[in-house]
Amino acid sequence: MPRVPPSQPLSEAESAEIRRLRAPLLAWYDANRRDLPWRRTNDPYAIWISEAMLQQTRVETVIPYWQRFLDAFPDVESLARADLDDVYAVWTGLGYYSRARNLKHAAETVVREHDGQLPDTAEGLQELKGIGRYTAGAVASIAFDREAPLVDGNVIRVFARLLGIREDSATRSVVEHLWAVAGELVRGPRPGDLNQALMELGATLCTPRNPACLVCPVRRFCDAHAVGDAESLPIKKKKAKPSRMRAVAAWVERGGKILAVRRPETGLMAGLWELPGGPIEAKDEAKDRLAPVLADAVGLEVRRLEPVGRVEHLFTHRRLELEVFRCVADEGSRVRRKHFVAHRWVEPSALLDLAHAGPTRKAMALLGMTDERSARAARKKRP
Ligand code: SF4
Repeated sequence: MPRVPPSQPLSEAESAEIRRLRAPLLAWYDANRRDLPWRRTNDPYAIWISEAMLQQTRVETVIPYWQRFLDAFPDVESLARADLDDVYAVWTGLGYYSRARNLKHAAETVVREHDGQLPDTAEGLQELKGIGRYTAGAVASIAFDREAPLVDGNVIRVFARLLGIREDSATRSVVEHLWAVAGELVRGPRPGDLNQALMELGATLCTPRNPACLVCPVRRFCDAHAVGDAESLPIKKKKAKPSRMRAVAAWVERGGKILAVRRPETGLMAGLWELPGGPIEAKDEAKDRLAPVLADAVGLEVRRLEPVGRVEHLFTHRRLELEVFRCVADEGSRVRRKHFVAHRWVEPSALLDLAHAGPTRKAMALLGMTDERSARAARKKRP
């Protein structure tokens, strides 16, 4: 497609160019679509769950989780009624637990305010907690046949290449331009299939590395293919280096059980279970700080401190360095929660059955405990 400067609204020439993509995209999708379980249903609830899970997570990982989730909570009423811990239990291993929390919150709203029916427009869906512009477009178009556009990472890549956008794809003007392009493209019959075709193209052919241009249904319209610089698009400005964060955590044992604590409902890793501990300063000696940190966070006196190792975990803007220890709680000392909202003494293997985040999974692996997901990953790595 000829290079056009991002503009909004689109010119007539731009609109006409964009609309020429519809027929080849739909024909290709009809012949090549992957047979994914959520494509075999028209149930808006099931489609919504799949879209929530697919944010940040690969299709192959999502498939068994989606099935398990629907077995446990087959409709919006059952999700609204469920205990949040039961929702977390089904979600365990999928990560980004705020998605599970938001799903439950939104289900409660749907039951309370919409008579159990999901809103059938993108605007209505966006009123629900956790449903952003992308998910609203996906659910409205796929489940309700609305001409609602969507733009995600795959779509940005496809459009940047097709339109030859050679500037930072994260700038507001470019992003808005891409939404306008997606809005133009989705107008007409089969909006859900059109959106899925676009995402499928990005996921299977127009991949970040080695795009399969020779079999691409829209290559004759593609600026990057003509120029030969597809792999360098989209242009993404380098992100700022994540800031470093240090913390200590301990496997605190008493009578064969270990202490698990639950984080507050807001902030980083909200509502998740972990080993007790807390932040330390860059200059701190981790071993010296562990006992005071535990005394402050959970009020326990501990002894027999033993360093186990260090794990690292990257959040969106922060890199956590977590020093992990084992220790024993003094018989006489009692848990007094200060920085946590709940605690349990659990069998060591049971901590990973509670909703937990990546750093806890890594720390428990250092301590010889793995959950089903980690064990599967380890098995996969073996030759
Ligand atoms: Fe992507 Fe290549 Fe198709 Fe262009 S021709 S949209 S770069 S796969």
